[in-house]
Amino acid sequence: MINELLQYQEVDGKLREIEVSLSQSEERKKAAAAQSVLKSANENIARLDARAKDLAAKFNSLAKLYEQLKETEAEYENVVETCEDLDEINYIKKKAHELSEEVKNLSDNIESVSKEIKAVLEEFAKLRADTKKANAAYKEFAPKYAELKASKEGETGEIKSKLAAIEKKIDPEIMSAYKRHRQEKMFPIVYLADISGKSAHCGRCGNELPIADAENLKKGEIVECESCHRLLYAEAN
Ligand SMILES: [Zn+2]
Repeated sequence: MINELLQYQEVDGKLREIEVSLSQSEERKKAAAAQSVLKSANENIARLDARAKDLAAKFNSLAKLYEQLKETEAEYENVVETCEDLDEINYIKKKAHELSEEVKNLSDNIESVSKEIKAVLEEFAKLRADTKKANAAYKEFAPKYAELKASKEGETGEIKSKLAAIEKKIDPEIMSAYKRHRQEKMFPIVYLADISGKSAHCGRCGNELPIADAENLKKGEIVECESCHRLLYAEAN
């Protein structure tokens, strides 16, 4: 069974090579990058929308307050013009001065909110441009990648039917462990254990194996390394 497993891994290696070359192809990389821009675009739009609404509300309430202060300022001016009591005039002048400070602060606030609004609008414009670009890239590279993948289908189909034939000679439990690791992108999965010394070691990571595993290896069984999870075998004497 070990020979079959090794044979399976060898054939599977060819399938993996094709998979790696597909996943590293420019076509896939460009299509995937465009897709991720498009995916995050909706989230970004929602975030900017919320921010824009927030700023608009802030701007409106500041503008309202500004109007109110301006009205009070005008009222003070009126009083100063018509009042004859010097103390009252001085008091009003003092109040008017405080008010003009407030108005100044407020107009600074309004200006900074306006700047933020402008920044959000610029971000919107950039997002729109990026999305447009990503859309075009996706439209160009997704079909190219599909084409590239299709061009390998004959070869991968052949490999897969070879694998299916070899698989029949392998213990299903071992096979399912192998496939699980393969899905986790582990490769190679099957390694020769080192049983030459007093204790047995993993042929990949060098981890010392438990005595029970060493015994099983000698009996021709396959064990899994607790450390790197490779499937280990020992050569028959
Ligand atoms: Zn190991």
